[in-house]
Amino acid sequence: MNKPMSEFDLIKRYFTRATPGTLLGVGDDAALLQVSEGNVLAVSSDMLVSGTHFFPDADPFLLGHKTLAVNLSDMAAMGALPRWATLAIALPDANEAWLEKFSAGFFALAQQHGVELVGGDTTRGPLNLCVTIMGEVPARQALRRSGAQVGDEVWVSGRLGDAALALAHSQGRIVLSGEEFAACAPALHQPQPRIALGLALRGLANSAIDISDGLLADLGHIIDASKVGAQIDLVKLPVSLPVSKNFGRSLGVQCALAGGDDYELCFTAPATRHRDVLRISEKLDLPLTSIGNIVAGQGCIVHDAAGKPINLGSSGYDHFR
Ligand code: ADP
Ligand code: MG
Repeated sequence: MNKPMSEFDLIKRYFTRATPGTLLGVGDDAALLQVSEGNVLAVSSDMLVSGTHFFPDADPFLLGHKTLAVNLSDMAAMGALPRWATLAIALPDANEAWLEKFSAGFFALAQQHGVELVGGDTTRGPLNLCVTIMGEVPARQALRRSGAQVGDEVWVSGRLGDAALALAHSQGRIVLSGEEFAACAPALHQPQPRIALGLALRGLANSAIDISDGLLADLGHIIDASKVGAQIDLVKLPVSLPVSKNFGRSLGVQCALAGGDDYELCFTAPATRHRDVLRISEKLDLPLTSIGNIVAGQGCIVHDAAGKPINLGSSGYDHFR
């Protein structure tokens, strides 16, 4: 039997890597960070709680990826370049096999985006993961929720609803074929933060948000903050075959409009910049789809294929409802 690991051994072994882009990283009472000249710090935290945000037996490598990915998604939505992260983690026990895989998933994505883990906190308790992500952006180029203008087009990246459909399958609420589940599951377990898109939208998009609670809820935040309205066309929503197959039943529409966990970007840009957005799509090899417009007024109207407004029951995932 190996001797149980101390908290400090655990931090050293699993959460300490070289941090060349940092004045002082893990090991002191605080990290010391220097933002590049002309930039401001963009900071955001996201917590993942076992049983609420993931299944307790979730694959630890994918969980490590997702814990960082949901935070990186917030940097993308601000048009920020992610640079540093801290990780506060509560663990029921020091399960080394679990820690090995979790940290491998976390650092694989961190490395891909040049993010350095510079500190955190480690404690015993029910599994809980909280990352604070820090990035930089020239203050005037940050993509805020409040900048949408009448005459903007509304765009979304990637596809909507896959994660929610995969979750519905995992919870036994619907049954997907093996092939359908394979098409949707990566969106749920391994979301790809749209960092390159956020950076490309600096100086182009008037507003942006990442879709974590469903398109309607998150576009709702943009139009509320911007004091405008929106109209979108259901048929324009970019959805996978499994989601569109479920459009007949309300489930597909629910997943696309109100499913959580997409981690795509929703942004608005002047209609005159339509071609510039498409050029970015081509360059990044990432689908960007115009789904509607910003209009005067308030609220979001969704039109069906026949051009009739559809009745929207639920409008996003809210942990306290
Ligand atoms: P303190 O007692 O000053 O709060 P800790 O003993 O909690 O410091 O942590 C020691 C060092 O390890 C600190 O630099 C802290 O930021 C870092 N650290 C603790 N837990 C983690 C973790 N899960 N990931 C990365 N760094 C961590
Ligand atoms: Mg201290």
